[in-house]
Amino acid sequence: MGDPKGFLNIRRQESGYRPVEERVNDYGEVEKLMPDDSRRMQAARCMDCGVPFCHWACPVGNIMPEWQDAIFRGNWKAAYDILQDTNNFPEFTGRVCPAPCEAACVLALNDDAVTIRQNELAVIEKAFSLGLVVAKPPLMRSGKKVAVIGSGPAGLACADLLNKAGHTVVLYESSDGVGGYLRYGIPDFKLSKEIIDRRINILLKEGLIIKTGVTIGRDIPSSDIRNDFNAVCIAIGAREPRDLSIEGRSLAGIHFALEYLTQQNRVVRGDVITEQELIRAYDKHVVVIGGGDTGSDCVGTANRQGARSITQLEIMPKPPEHRTESEPWPLWPRLIKISSSHEEGCEQMWNISAKRFTGDGGMVNTISAIEVEWRTGNDGRQIMTEKPGSDFELEAELVLIAMGFVHPVHSGLVQDLGLDLDSRGNIKIDNNFMTNADGIFSAGDSSRGASLVVHAIQDGRLAADAINRYLIRDSLKQSPQC
Ligand SMILES: Cc1cc2nc3c(=O)[nH]c(=O)nc-3n(C[C@H](O)[C@H](O)[C@H](O)COP(=O)(O)OP(=O)(O)OC[C@H]3O[C@@H](n4cnc5c(N)ncnc54)[C@H](O)[C@@H]3O)c2cc1C
Ligand code: SF4
Repeated sequence: MGDPKGFLNIRRQESGYRPVEERVNDYGEVEKLMPDDSRRMQAARCMDCGVPFCHWACPVGNIMPEWQDAIFRGNWKAAYDILQDTNNFPEFTGRVCPAPCEAACVLALNDDAVTIRQNELAVIEKAFSLGLVVAKPPLMRSGKKVAVIGSGPAGLACADLLNKAGHTVVLYESSDGVGGYLRYGIPDFKLSKEIIDRRINILLKEGLIIKTGVTIGRDIPSSDIRNDFNAVCIAIGAREPRDLSIEGRSLAGIHFALEYLTQQNRVVRGDVITEQELIRAYDKHVVVIGGGDTGSDCVGTANRQGARSITQLEIMPKPPEHRTESEPWPLWPRLIKISSSHEEGCEQMWNISAKRFTGDGGMVNTISAIEVEWRTGNDGRQIMTEKPGSDFELEAELVLIAMGFVHPVHSGLVQDLGLDLDSRGNIKIDNNFMTNADGIFSAGDSSRGASLVVHAIQDGRLAADAINRYLIRDSLKQSPQC
């Protein structure tokens, strides 16, 4: 620990966002980077508490105290070396991770947590700028072939480690770009796509083979993949959106959030979208249904498109501002989150159930909704009831359904291979990430259910380890990178 009194003398300071009036006019990243000296002071706040719960809470098991110390000492190379040991892509988590580590920081017991996520981002960005992040192709190849299907963070992490371990890895991606929701989903103002390209260039130099525009189960039969490779990892995400089957759902102007967000990612990239396909919020009353992060991303995008008003509806109650007794430290508390997108302008409403869409000439223009109340039933389950007489209407010329994702798409690959599913419809895996089909593994949202980038990375890492062991018994000892 560089500064034993750092946590007493230095206050938590955020990197901060660009001013609202500036950032709503572009799709550049909203969060700023802090000067090195200030960043080192923030790292000095780590107490090296002895039992680092941050490490326990981080899904990839980042070893925070060690790299906070290296940051404080200005030893960016040491910080990077420690960080990259546990996390393939700190440049992604450093930007979009909700940072469960910070909720578990010992300092957070009675003070503000260390700025772990922002420190992580500083380390990886410094490492790139110092030229420390370079391709390290394996010295030899094992002769084994692995297909990884899906190039989101789970597939990327899995493919990266298996390639580094010397296996020949082909990463198949149905879309025209690599990254899964990192590229087509998460808005550019949270994660610039150049950040993904920068990493992909390194993976390619290391010998990873990437084939985009190939849907396994359609362009290549699933049986071929099984026969042509020694092992397969399915990382196809949880991409079946949860729908809202209420009256008027088929009216034009009602879209799944992902259609909208993906299209805007494409527009930012320079793709030309036809007038008929374009989903535009300009001058419209926009209603976002779903109070989570995807909904918040819709809010930020609609603001940039010049929406006249934006209302975000959530059926659940407003979360508390502070921890409740039911979620004590170091657990991850469900607290109200005012994102950078919310700061840009939006009315948030909780305890609201959407009842009906109505329109004119086939286009939606109104949503009818009602207030609801929640109480805990005898069996501990939450029971919702509508508040009589609380129904109301909102103007809604563009409706974005951001109610999450139910499970992976079953048609095609999953059904072709006869994979077992769990009770929620996700691909069922054993402790070694293997499905019921020998040699076929699954990682990330496709087996876990819709979750977070950091969980996808960790699942990809663990699946790679299991696949490596499957391919070469006791190879863990021989392949230290995996
Ligand atoms: C709008 C949005 C915002 C989000 N924001 C955050 C955030 O801020 N922080 C955070 O931590 N998480 C966020 N998430 C969640 C996070 O992005 C996901 O949990 C994560 O991307 C899951 O990774 P994955 O690799 O399992 O799957 P995905 O990222 O879904 O990638 C799966 C890939 O598989 C491909 N694929 C599917 N079927 C086939 C096939 N048959 N053949 C070939 N390829 C196929 C898909 O095209 C896709 O590229 C967000 C999600 C969304 C939708
Ligand atoms: S990956 Fe997420 S949980 Fe882990 S150290 Fe980074 S911000 Fe914290």
